[in-house]
Amino acid sequence: MSHSNRQSMLDRATMKQLNTDKTAKRTLEVISPFYSQKRTGGAISVASALKLVASATLLAVTTAANSNDSNNNNSQATPFAYNSWQSQNPEELSLPNLRGQGLSFAEQYQNKLLGEWSLRNVNGRIKMEHDPWIHETVKDMTWRLNAQARQQAPMGLVIIDSPSINAFAAPGGVIGLNTGTILAASSMDELASVVAHEVAHISQHHYENGADERKKALLMQIGGMLAAIAASAVDSDAAAAVMMGSQTATMNSSMAFSRSNEREADRVGMQIMTQAGYDPRAMPRFFATMNQQSQLNQVENRFLPSFVRSHPLSNERLSESQSRAQHYPSLSLNQQQRYQTLFDLLYWRVQSTGQHASETVLTTAAKNSVGAKLALMHWYGEQQRFEDAEEMLAEIKAWPAARRQGLEPLLSITHSQILSEQGKWAQAADILESQQRLYPERRDLRLYLAEALTNSNQPVKAQALLKPLTEQQPSDRYAWQSLQLANEKLAKTTASPELAKIATINALRYRSHDQLWSGRFDRALTSLTQAKQLTEKLQNTAQASSARPLLANINAEIKAVKTAKDFEP
Ligand SMILES: [Zn+2]
Repeated sequence: MSHSNRQSMLDRATMKQLNTDKTAKRTLEVISPFYSQKRTGGAISVASALKLVASATLLAVTTAANSNDSNNNNSQATPFAYNSWQSQNPEELSLPNLRGQGLSFAEQYQNKLLGEWSLRNVNGRIKMEHDPWIHETVKDMTWRLNAQARQQAPMGLVIIDSPSINAFAAPGGVIGLNTGTILAASSMDELASVVAHEVAHISQHHYENGADERKKALLMQIGGMLAAIAASAVDSDAAAAVMMGSQTATMNSSMAFSRSNEREADRVGMQIMTQAGYDPRAMPRFFATMNQQSQLNQVENRFLPSFVRSHPLSNERLSESQSRAQHYPSLSLNQQQRYQTLFDLLYWRVQSTGQHASETVLTTAAKNSVGAKLALMHWYGEQQRFEDAEEMLAEIKAWPAARRQGLEPLLSITHSQILSEQGKWAQAADILESQQRLYPERRDLRLYLAEALTNSNQPVKAQALLKPLTEQQPSDRYAWQSLQLANEKLAKTTASPELAKIATINALRYRSHDQLWSGRFDRALTSLTQAKQLTEKLQNTAQASSARPLLANINAEIKAVKTAKDFEP
């Protein structure tokens, strides 16, 4: 089937999903205050719109210098501390070492393009979990694992709002995870084991080593499978159509990696997670859980690609993983409990933002779990039940400082969200500001704070917080949208008509970046054309000096969109 046929089939399936989905009315454009207003006093909120629609927040940071990969291999290919068992299997000795293979510059460049392509492909089609705190938490774990095996930071992290257990890694270093994986895990270590396995596929260059046909199949799988997840949430006929459209790649997903690739990813993955401070015993444990669940859900998941489907968990693989884990020294109790609170917070935050758990479930769990308490508080806020929320907050505020401290910055974030729901944006900004000063490197706090600042009429301050995010990570759609909102606010509120014009032009530019990274190329070009026309008008005015560099930027942006539009893997 030709590329364009497949494309239109995906689009139809996506459209069908959007039309049926109860959240579909709030498309991405809706977040613009020009089009709609949020229920509390016309306040604008990326978070509230984003979490309901199909799009993605991407967290990657800029990559380390590419060329280092091939130069430093010898010195960097340090063996892991606990590798004595490695020599037990002669077959494994012939496999490439960790970081063993440098890629040529051309290959690295091709991988970067592929990574960007898959990000844009995924972003436009799938319902994502955008919550910045959830992203920060998963990203921290993912980057930590990645750093054990690769010199380059991952290109991006996508968290898909889907109940099936799945994780994947794409060439170029895009790592993805379903919320279902978080909800199926019982510890941070278990979650880390799946991500570590995927990081190993990248670090061992399993994509590049594959035959061309397989490489192509994997790309189809990423585009096609993700579309299938989105479509199957609505009806299975649509999913079937998508699956057929994405050729046999999805059907034969179990053939995606060779058996020896899988064994190597298990082996290296376990090394990676141990090096990063996670418990290797969690890997066989989570494999067993996934195996069980996949058998239970086989009928429902008929159309859902899952980790288990693309990584068949044979008994042989399970027992191999078990015996391998026993070769690692046991963790101390202290080490075992290290991530307990964090996982509790993560698990329940996912439950509440994805609206997976009912009030009854949250209320019951809140009796024993701090994470559930915060999630319930957050949920009360969203339901406009502010008295209930305040009551819970007061209870937590009475706890000893050390115990409260362990919940930060999520406690402050939750508090600020309850205030935002009431339109108390300035108060929300105060609370977030003090946290942001403590953790200036955290993306989530910048995003939450910027939103509060924009809504309390401080868009210039908001913009200053956001700019570094898009510079670090050009595919960060959440940050681009927030920048757009800040500039729209500035255009409306500034006393200077000149500044208002520039802010309007910039809002259009930032919108085009968001559109680019969700694969909506024609809309991105429309936004940029509008920006260009407004800028050209400035050329004959007193603002000619600011018009010239602006025009140069816009022309470069138009060129980038066209290049992305033409790219085909
Ligand atoms: Zn695998």
